Amino acid sequence: MKRIWPNPIIEIMPFNDIEESRDVALVFSRAAYDAVKERLHFNISSFTEPLEATLAHWDAIGADLKGDVIYAVGGGLAVDTAKYLAVKFGKPIISLPTALSVDAFMTWASGYRDKGCVYYTETKPPDKLIVDFEVIGAGPASIRAAGITDVLSIATGSWDWKFAEKEGQSTPETEFIPYAYDAAQAILDGVMDCAEAAGKGEPDGLKQLLDCLALQVQLCNLIGHARPEEGSEHYFAYSVENEMEKGLPHGDLVGPGIMLMAGLQGQDLAPLKKALDACNIPLTNIAQVAIERTVLGLAEYSTRHGLAYGIAHTLDETHLDKLPSLR
Ligand SMILES: [Zn+2]
Repeated sequence: MKRIWPNPIIEIMPFNDIEESRDVALVFSRAAYDAVKERLHFNISSFTEPLEATLAHWDAIGADLKGDVIYAVGGGLAVDTAKYLAVKFGKPIISLPTALSVDAFMTWASGYRDKGCVYYTETKPPDKLIVDFEVIGAGPASIRAAGITDVLSIATGSWDWKFAEKEGQSTPETEFIPYAYDAAQAILDGVMDCAEAAGKGEPDGLKQLLDCLALQVQLCNLIGHARPEEGSEHYFAYSVENEMEKGLPHGDLVGPGIMLMAGLQGQDLAPLKKALDACNIPLTNIAQVAIERTVLGLAEYSTRHGLAYGIAHTLDETHLDKLPSLR
């Protein structure tokens, strides 16, 4: 049996109008919950706050979970934890994003860290995604539209996908599909087009960003892999975390990853930079020494972790001079 997951049902409505009579198990991020709690009118039976994305941590904090339905309030960490616990305990899950910060609100997998890399375990998509554009528009500027990085990554991920085919490095499961590549480019165009409005928190721009995230996720669901969207920019993001003392939001890592890898791929950086800037994605939060160490080790890292072939696998010290400036 081969299962193809759908996108969640998406309801666009004020959080204030949510009617919920079941007992709720809340899985949340503190800052996100504090920002919206006045709008939520339901009975919360247990509060579960994930602090890191590891299976051991999720198993430990899940022991106290009580309620008939899980509500995930927050960003990627909250929803990935909630999806994992929902499957473990056989409960429905409703996701209330407080920012369009990642694509995890729609995907059927939960990303967790292990041995210095990020892996994905099959869980399930949220049963429902409730989007309140007023809440998202009022969120922190650098976070509210940061999910644009999970669509802009099509620029570098698709490039890698085509490159792998050309180099004879595709696998039977991830063979290049020209029309799917073209569809991904159209989604990329869509997100460039809405970057400015989404970055300002305007509802129309945020809706188009939501559409692009949903289309990207569904395209990957149908073809059975994430090659159109995930490539060397994500490998850079996974690897550079090992060079840093504290974690950064997904977009803060993937954004620079897109610029660096697109530069090494010889792509025009101006439209990518414009879209990232419009969505207030910080590009200079990673120290140059960490960037260089990561680029130097990325070929070995990508091979060791079995990541799908891309430009990352070809990098060596000759590429350090070719790194674009992120300033
Ligand atoms: Zn991502």
